[in-house]
Amino acid sequence: MNYDKKKYKVWDWKSPMILHWILNPGLAFNELALGQTIPKVMLIDRESEKSMYQRSLVPCPHCGTQHNGLKWSSQNNLAFKNWFGYYCDNCKGIIPVHRNLTSLIILTLTFPIWGWFRKSLKQNWLDKQPERYKNLTYELPEQKIKAKKWLKEGLSWGFFMYIIMNVVAPLIVGEDITKPGLLLGLPMWLIIGFGWGFVMKLWMNRKGKANKAKNEE
Ligand SMILES: [Zn+2]
Repeated sequence: MNYDKKKYKVWDWKSPMILHWILNPGLAFNELALGQTIPKVMLIDRESEKSMYQRSLVPCPHCGTQHNGLKWSSQNNLAFKNWFGYYCDNCKGIIPVHRNLTSLIILTLTFPIWGWFRKSLKQNWLDKQPERYKNLTYELPEQKIKAKKWLKEGLSWGFFMYIIMNVVAPLIVGEDITKPGLLLGLPMWLIIGFGWGFVMKLWMNRKGKANKAKNEE
């Protein structure tokens, strides 16, 4: 599909946030367990004064609708459970999404187990979608992004990953939980969590051109 590149910045796999989504192994958990995902193509309005969230559009390749990116916000309870992609509430199609590399490997290795249920799982999921897309809101209070939320979110994600990687994962594969792992893992994951939260904050608060010009005056 062709997009108006003057009006929109097109985000595909080469943009940092999407590349991060693909490469960070920790996000496999977000994807597989929580159903968090990122669409194949995102359009960012270059001119709008609003924050990144508010000026992102998700185009549906099936019907051409440009969905407001805020549709899949946590306020709408649509940020999670998108295992098969983003559901298009206009044409009932599925908007393709990127897969995290680690979860792709996990999915490939476990295909013999879940492959049998793939069709029914997908149908089940599809049947539930229309209900989820009633009563949508596109408002995101400005202070909600500006607040220190990113710090809390980043750190709690890091801590969560620490528990998963150093306690839960060894238990599952039957390895010993090692002291150095426990000691080194915590600061490491907190730093990664901090970095992630910070990058998210930077990206999400970045304003369009119109606003930048105003600030420079
Ligand atoms: Zn559509």
